[in-house]
Amino acid sequence: MDELIIGSHVSFTKQTGLLGSIKEAVSYKANTFMFYTGAPQNTSRASIDLEITAYAHTALEEENIDPQNIIVHAPYIINLANPANFDFNTSFLKKEIERVEMLGMTKLVLHPGSHVGIGVDKGIENIINALNTVIDAKTRVDILLETMAGKGTECGKTLEEISKIINGVKHKEKIKVCLDTCHLSDAGYDLNKFDELLQEFDKKIGLEKIACIHINDSLNERGSHKDRHANFGFGKIGFETLLKIVYHPKLKKVPKILETPYITKTEETKEKVYPPYLFEIEMIKKKKWDKDLPQKIRKFYK
Ligand code: FE
Ligand code: FE
Ligand code: ZN
Repeated sequence: MDELIIGSHVSFTKQTGLLGSIKEAVSYKANTFMFYTGAPQNTSRASIDLEITAYAHTALEEENIDPQNIIVHAPYIINLANPANFDFNTSFLKKEIERVEMLGMTKLVLHPGSHVGIGVDKGIENIINALNTVIDAKTRVDILLETMAGKGTECGKTLEEISKIINGVKHKEKIKVCLDTCHLSDAGYDLNKFDELLQEFDKKIGLEKIACIHINDSLNERGSHKDRHANFGFGKIGFETLLKIVYHPKLKKVPKILETPYITKTEETKEKVYPPYLFEIEMIKKKKWDKDLPQKIRKFYK
């Protein structure tokens, strides 16, 4: 029996590196995880500690976590669709790929980029040029293009746009796709008809390209283009629809990553403080919706 491959976004700090990320993932009873190698919104990056990384790979073995299932997320300040800062964007992505290689990881999720007003076709052209500048035959990391909600001027909100990008890249074999359920729904796709969506994906891109799924519910209705994540089963997509995707027989080997929001300290406060992942993963494994999950999480971490 293939075990469900599931985890969440976890932190990665200068002090504990990959070891800290593993510890956090294990505390959620996850068997994979995703992290940023530094703050996603800025470019300051501490160098990778090779000693910690070596220890961490032993820990991964002990915990039965396959490094191939671990996902690194590229910083979202990289915008390959924007013609401005081409050199900065490409050299920063190149450095990020090197960091992923040093960490012994193989999958880097990337937001394709926002065209900032020059139009989606020009934006995609820029993305393709940038990827062809960064990726060569020696690149050991797969770039996973994430499907986007279409917020603002985001490119990659349809399968056609993703397919167009892949087709323009010389080393296509190194480009894969990360589905994000919140983004797909916000972009207008009906996840209640997920089999049809997979069929369309297979025709336009190829099912073998799906290398990660971000499992998020959405705060907003289908087609809203808002990109506001909700806890699993607590949004407009709903528990049963998300569960079908998580357990879809064609996606068994694909790592599922929760990027759902933290839980607030009390029902009245706004500050999000408690990670939901231990409880969301448990609920997903029980396959049974629990409306009291937020209260249980508050009780547990208090
Ligand atoms: Fe993302
Ligand atoms: Fe995502
Ligand atoms: Zn999102």
